[in-house]
Amino acid sequence: MDLIVLGSGIGASHIEGLPNRFPPAFLVRWANQAILFDCSEGVRFRLEQMGICYADIRHIAISHAHPDHNALVNYIHAVALRNHVVEEQGSSLNIYAPQQIVQDFPAVWNGYVPDNPTREEDIWPILQFHALPNQSVSSVEIGSAKLQSFKVFHGAGKCNAVAYRLDTPEGVFSYSGDTGDCTGIRAACFRADIFVCEASAKIGSFDSALAYGHLTPYQAGDIAKAGNVSKLILFHYTGLETEEQILADCRASGYKGELVCSQDFDIFKVEKSCLL
Ligand SMILES: [Zn+2]
Ligand SMILES: [Zn+2]
Repeated sequence: MDLIVLGSGIGASHIEGLPNRFPPAFLVRWANQAILFDCSEGVRFRLEQMGICYADIRHIAISHAHPDHNALVNYIHAVALRNHVVEEQGSSLNIYAPQQIVQDFPAVWNGYVPDNPTREEDIWPILQFHALPNQSVSSVEIGSAKLQSFKVFHGAGKCNAVAYRLDTPEGVFSYSGDTGDCTGIRAACFRADIFVCEASAKIGSFDSALAYGHLTPYQAGDIAKAGNVSKLILFHYTGLETEEQILADCRASGYKGELVCSQDFDIFKVEKSCLL
């Protein structure tokens, strides 16, 4: 099982200290399966740069609707255009997303592609939406793995948002999406082999976790420590603080496991921890 960092940055760029970072997206591969976690702006270019064709992805799990995590319309449109150019038919594409995204998708699509609301030509991917109920936990089987979503607090409580946990025979991967400190994120990462966690709140601004729903590096470390996480991968930081400052703030929480500030194109092997 491995994890490819396609986007470790935020929804803005051209910021000193934040070179060459795309908005959040991560590809997890195990056995013959792969899931793209978050479908952010430009993610197909990152997949191409890693030698992966974006049209081959069959599973996408989206954490919440904000555009730095969810550019699904652009992605689907690009898949169909590629199919048109290379004369291939669309394949099924499973999309796991909070109910809010699934409900709003037809209207959002219509805003972009008003001339083709139903996508019936054979170049279009066949969309299989899996709406995650707006409750604490949901679960779906994907091949040999189990994908769980956990409701988390984000967008001042006005944005349906989930964290994910993927249990595979090769290890446990957890992904925060955007979140404050809440029971959902603490359950999602419990004893994970690798926990990809946002750290977008400014160091010391602890109130963000409860007011809007972002974590400081310290809070990410505190959650990972409580969950006995083996490896913590931070992402979604602004560049206002140095990597050294971020790591030091995270360590101040008492988290003792492996710790990395991720960069685009990083690849991590996920291995089962002896804790499990
Ligand atoms: Zn967000
Ligand atoms: Zn975000």
